[in-house]
Amino acid sequence: MTIRITKGQTGKNLLNQIREISGIDLAVCYQCKKCSCGCTVSAHVQSPPSELIRRLQLGAGDELLTSDLIWTCVSCETCFARCPMGIDMVSVMDALRALVIQKKAVIPEGNVPLFNNAFLKTVEIFGRTYDLALMTAYKIGTSSYMRDTDKLPIIMQKKKIALLPSLGANRKRVRRIFRKTRQNKGRLS
Ligand code: SF4
Ligand code: SF4
Repeated sequence: MTIRITKGQTGKNLLNQIREISGIDLAVCYQCKKCSCGCTVSAHVQSPPSELIRRLQLGAGDELLTSDLIWTCVSCETCFARCPMGIDMVSVMDALRALVIQKKAVIPEGNVPLFNNAFLKTVEIFGRTYDLALMTAYKIGTSSYMRDTDKLPIIMQKKKIALLPSLGANRKRVRRIFRKTRQNKGRLS
C-alpha cells in the first residue's frame, strides 16, 4: 500500500498534533536512518520509522494514519536507543494510535488494535500488566478460545504467568492517569 501525500490533505499537518500529544519534535530528525536499520518490524511494514518521520516532515496529514507501522510497532524501543537525536518513537506511535482512534481513521485488518486495547484495559484495572486477564480478553475478542491452550500447563509450571494480579500496584493512581489522559484526549500531561 502506498501512502500518498496530497496538497489538499496537508492542511491538517500531523507533525504539530504529534508534538502536542507526545511533546516530541520530529523536525529534529535528520534522516540518518539508524532507527529503520535496527527496527524489529521494518521488514514487515511499508514505511519504516525514518520514512514515516520524513513524510510527516514533508507535511503529511491524516492519510498517514493508515500506515501499517502504527499498529505493527512492538514498542521495543530499539529505534529510541539508536537515535542520535533521542527521538522516542514509542511515544510517537502512542500519539499516532491515539489520533487514529480520535479521528476514527481506518485501522488495518488484524488483531493488533484489539490486543492493544485489552492490554491497556488490564493495566487500567489492575494497575500493572496481568497476563492471564490479557490472554482471556484477547481470546474472547478473537473467539480463539482453544488456540495454544496446550501450552498453558508448561507456562504455569514454569511460572511464566502469575495466577493472581500484582498486589504492589497503586491502582488508584494508575486509574487517575488513564482518566486524565482521556480528559486530555490522549495527552499525557
Ligand atoms: S535515528 Fe533518529 S535522527 Fe536518525 S532517522 Fe531515525 S529518528 Fe531520525
Ligand atoms: S519501537 Fe517500533 S518503530 Fe521502534 S524499533 Fe521497535 S518496532 Fe520499530
